[in-house]
Amino acid sequence: MENMFCFQCEQTAKGTGCTISGVCGKTAPTAREQDVLTCEMISLAKTALDKGCIMPDMIDRIVDGLFTTITNVNFDTSKIETLAAQTREQWEACGGEVAIEPEDLFHGDENLISLRSTLLFGLRGMAAYAHHARVLGKRDPEVDEWFIKGMAALAEEHSVDEWLALLMEFGGVNLKCMALLDAANTGAYGNPIPTEVPLKIEKGPFIVITGHDLRDLKMLLEQTDGTGVNVYTHSEMLPAHGYPELKKHPQLKGNFGTAWQNQQKEFENLPAPVLFTTNCLMPPKPSYADRIYTSSVVAYPEMKHIAAEADGTKDFSLIIEHAIKLGGYAEDQERTGVNGGKTVTTGFGRQTVLDNAPAIIDAVKAGAIKHFFLVGGCDGAKLGRNYYTDFVKQSPKDTVILTLACGKYRINDLDIGAIGPFPRILDMGQCNDAYGAVQVAVALAGAFECGVNDLPLTLVLSWYEQKAVCILLSLLSLGIKDIYIGPSVPAFFSSAVVNVLVEKFNLHPISTPEQDLAEILGNN
Ligand code: SF4
Repeated sequence: MENMFCFQCEQTAKGTGCTISGVCGKTAPTAREQDVLTCEMISLAKTALDKGCIMPDMIDRIVDGLFTTITNVNFDTSKIETLAAQTREQWEACGGEVAIEPEDLFHGDENLISLRSTLLFGLRGMAAYAHHARVLGKRDPEVDEWFIKGMAALAEEHSVDEWLALLMEFGGVNLKCMALLDAANTGAYGNPIPTEVPLKIEKGPFIVITGHDLRDLKMLLEQTDGTGVNVYTHSEMLPAHGYPELKKHPQLKGNFGTAWQNQQKEFENLPAPVLFTTNCLMPPKPSYADRIYTSSVVAYPEMKHIAAEADGTKDFSLIIEHAIKLGGYAEDQERTGVNGGKTVTTGFGRQTVLDNAPAIIDAVKAGAIKHFFLVGGCDGAKLGRNYYTDFVKQSPKDTVILTLACGKYRINDLDIGAIGPFPRILDMGQCNDAYGAVQVAVALAGAFECGVNDLPLTLVLSWYEQKAVCILLSLLSLGIKDIYIGPSVPAFFSSAVVNVLVEKFNLHPISTPEQDLAEILGNN
């Protein structure tokens, strides 16, 4: 008998769905409450549309509620219950009705559930980006309105063609949301510049900060200025080192740890507290649970949570005091990435790459660069993910690897050489910097007077959670074809949906690095 049903991420049980408890550590009660919250938000959106009843905080409620339900974000059933109850109160006050019951959310016709779930999971991903942009003061009315439109659409009947059209429209809106976040991040902290990041941990007290929220990092840096407490990024926070307004704080020393899925091992004996600003939080082991702090929508029962004040500021004094009390390491600790490298380089953001476009174009014209690969996306625990490391290692020396998001930890300490002044691996940033990668692709297409699909560029994506879903839909909405995706096809794509994506977009499930490289480079 099913205790729950969740199939939103790549590590879902048996590749079909978690039904007893989540592989991610989510319990059945938490999963059920997330379904309740999702249905309350759908009812709220439907009420808003049907009754014209718009309340000022309604969009933020939906954005934060969706963000809460992303994989590895919030494991606190009572907090989710509270959000659901507050959402229900709001639509009831507007005279709304139940739009959909939780037990119907993922049950029904296989293809319609697949299409509906794809939109829901995409909306969850976009919510994370909208949240990060909002805390930096950026909103886009079109994006905000689409949260209502998209959520309400989940309770409506649509033909397959109508669902596909909605998904493509959503992909275009998500691109605008990523553009908004790009403007928010670069507007607040400057355009990223190439920066070598040490993996060494210096002696003395320190804090590790993980997740995507640059504003949390900025506030932490301002509050640790002059305290003697160093700050190290972890996982998706690594690209922060490239932003001028963040890197100017000398205590932002380097990056700690490797991929997010190694945290239970890497945090075990750490003499420092860890701040989670977003996913991916794994259930903390008792040995280090007292050193975990959460902020924003991230939560785990009994973990210390740092909430925002009414003006959005956060007081990190508790975690700073904790770092001082723990004291850090007595001596400097030499650390390496998974391939043995002692440093990693980040900061090849959109603007830096575009500034170098003339030299890149010359290198292509001279034959020094034959092909670009965007090898990016999420990391995860699945063994098959060594495909991405092997793909990069086997890529010819006249190819450039653009990368972004946390999957880069498999490759970012590799030394695979350079082409002229450019290292062959260029880290463009976090997952939302897929927007920057699109801008680069469009600029190159303009320079070569061709379409993006005609460029010597192939996207080789790894997916894990729902932000990858919204990015994939944005890429498809732009008409980008021949994307390779792995390590497996999402469980929520029915075989009919996969067939449509293969036929329409020539989507390729990954095979082996040898076979895919041969296929892409025409060596078959
Ligand atoms: Fe399973 Fe992923 Fe859902 Fe967690 S988020 S319950 S691992 S499908």
